[in-house]
Amino acid sequence: MKEENERDMPWICDKCKEKLVLCKVKANYLGGNFEVELMKCPQCHNVFVGEDLALGKMLMVEKELEDK
Ligand SMILES: [Zn+2]
Repeated sequence: MKEENERDMPWICDKCKEKLVLCKVKANYLGGNFEVELMKCPQCHNVFVGEDLALGKMLMVEKELEDK
């Protein structure tokens, strides 16, 4: 089925058209240490998070807070 194949396709960075790589990211959240695997662009180091990955969303929020 074509639809299934599309779901398995590797993610591509919109900016660089690079194939994303899976990398382990260490994260601190609520005083705990987590190691999560996220899709990351090897070129611009942009991290992509799946919509259903709640932990990833928390990380994004923390990152935004740190930037301020
Ligand atoms: Zn990129």
